[in-house]
Amino acid sequence: MSEPALYDEKIELLIDGEWCQGSTGESEVLENPATGEALGTVPHASDADLARALAAAQKGFRVWKALTAQARYTLMMKAADLIEARKDRIGRLLTLENGKPLGEAVPEVQFAADVTRWYAEEGKRAYGRIVPARMANVRQIVLKEPVGPVVAFAAWNFPSSNVIRKIAGALGAGCSVIMKPAEETPGTAVAIARCFQEAGLPAGVLNLVFGVPARVSQVLLASPIPKAVTLTGSTAVGKELQRLASATLKRCTMELGGHAPVIVHGDADLELAARTLATFKFRNAGQVCTSPTRFFIHESVYAAFTGRFVELAAALKIGNGLEAGTQMGPMIARRRLAAMEELVRDAVEKGAQLKLGGTRIGNQGHFFAPTVLADVPADAAIMSTEPFGPIASLTPFAGFDEVIERANALPYGLASFVFTRSGALAQRTEEALDAGLVGVNHMAVSTPETPFGGVNESGYGSESGIEGLDAFLRTKFVSELAAL
Ligand code: NAD
Repeated sequence: MSEPALYDEKIELLIDGEWCQGSTGESEVLENPATGEALGTVPHASDADLARALAAAQKGFRVWKALTAQARYTLMMKAADLIEARKDRIGRLLTLENGKPLGEAVPEVQFAADVTRWYAEEGKRAYGRIVPARMANVRQIVLKEPVGPVVAFAAWNFPSSNVIRKIAGALGAGCSVIMKPAEETPGTAVAIARCFQEAGLPAGVLNLVFGVPARVSQVLLASPIPKAVTLTGSTAVGKELQRLASATLKRCTMELGGHAPVIVHGDADLELAARTLATFKFRNAGQVCTSPTRFFIHESVYAAFTGRFVELAAALKIGNGLEAGTQMGPMIARRRLAAMEELVRDAVEKGAQLKLGGTRIGNQGHFFAPTVLADVPADAAIMSTEPFGPIASLTPFAGFDEVIERANALPYGLASFVFTRSGALAQRTEEALDAGLVGVNHMAVSTPETPFGGVNESGYGSESGIEGLDAFLRTKFVSELAAL
C-alpha cells in the first residue's frame, strides 16, 4: 500500500502567523477511510493555544479591517491563484483523508479558488447607502462594517468547500477567523491555509486549530473576542453552539443537517430523473447535506423509475477514490457502517423492500453498498433520521397536496428537488416546499454566486452569494449635522 507516502501534508496549527504543534503534545491519528491506514497525526490545541489564537484574531482583525477592500482583494486573489495551481495535490490529500473520488476532490478544490475570488470581488462591493434626511443640513449614512473576529467550525464531508466558504467569506468582509476544520480531514484545510499565508496574509488574520471539538467550542465561544460563529455540521451541534454563543450574544450562521425530499411528478423526464438522482444520491457515498434522501415518485411512474434507478445504482463503480473510474468511495468512519445497517434493518422490518445493497462491502476500509429501499413506510427510522449515507428510500405518491405534506413533514428544511416537464407544476411545487434550496430537474444548488442555506432545524443564514458576505457584516448608522 503506497497511499501514506502520497499524503505529503504536515498537519499543524496556525496561530498568529506561526505553524506549530499543540503545546500539550496531544494528538489523534488520521485515518484513510478507504484502507484504514494511518496517514499522519492531528495535533490538538490546548486551552493556552486557544487563548493565543483568540488574542491573535483580535490583533489580526484590527490589521485586516484597516486595509482597503482593494488591498484585501489583491491578497485574496493571490491565494486563489495558489489554490488553483495546487488543486491536483490538494485534491489528492482530500481523497486520501475523505475517501471521495479524485474526480470530485479536484473540482472541490477548484471551487475553493472560485469562492475565494467571488468573496474577494464582493468585498469591494460592501456598499452602504445615503438616506435622505428629514432635517436640513443632515446627512444620513448607512455603513457596512466587518462584524469582528469569527469562529468557524466545519464538517468533513466537503473538506475544501465547507472550510473555504467560511474563511473567504470572513476575509472578504474584513473579518479575522479562527477556523476549526474537522479532525477527520485536516490536511485539505492546512494546504488551503498555507496558500493564504504564502499570499501574504498578515499574522493573526487566519488561525487554524484542531482539538477536542466540544472543548474548543467551549473555550472559543466563552470569550467575548469573537463576534460571530459559523458552523457547517449537524443540527445537534448547531443547537449546542447556539447555546454557547448566547452567553455573549454572538451572531450565528448555522448550516446544519437535512433530509432532502425529491418529488418526481408523473410527467417528468424519467431517464433524466433516474440518471441525475443515481449520480447525486451516491455522490460522496451519500454523505452530503443536500443529498436526496426521501424519494416521492408519482404512482404512475413508480415501477418504471424504481427499475431504472436500481439499474443505474447497481452499475456504479465503488472503490478507492484514487483509482481511475471510481464513482463512489468509502464512508468516513467504521461506526457509520453499523448505522447504515441498522437503518436498513429497521426499514425492512417495518415493511420496506430491499431492492439493492444493504450491506458493507469487504472488510478493508469503510465501504457500504449503494442501497435502494422501496415502499418505505413513514414510520421507518430512515424517513425521519438523516441517513448521511448511500441509502435511497423510495415511496409512491398519488396527489399534489399529499406529497407536499409528506415532503414538509420533518423539522429539516435544507435542500429539496423536483422533476417535472411542466413549468406550472414546477412553480407550484417550488412555492409549496418548506426548504432553503430547491433544484428543479437538476441538483446544482451550490455555486459561489448563489445563497446556500437552510430553514427550520436545518439552520439559518446563508453562505455564498451577496447574502454570504452580509453574514460577516454589521450595520452602522451615522447621522451627520453639518456644523455651520
Ligand atoms: P458535526 O456537527 O458532528 O461536526 C461538524 C463540525 O463541528 C466539525 O468540525 C466537528 O469537529 C465540530 N463539532 C462537533 N461537535 C462539536 C461541539 N460539541 N462543539 C463544537 N464543534 C463541534 O457534524 P458531522 O457529523 O461531522 O457532519 C455531518 C453533518 O453536517 C450532517 O448533519 C450534515 O447534514 C451536516 N452538513 C451540513 C451542511 C450544510 O451546509 N447545511 C454541509 C455539510 C454537512
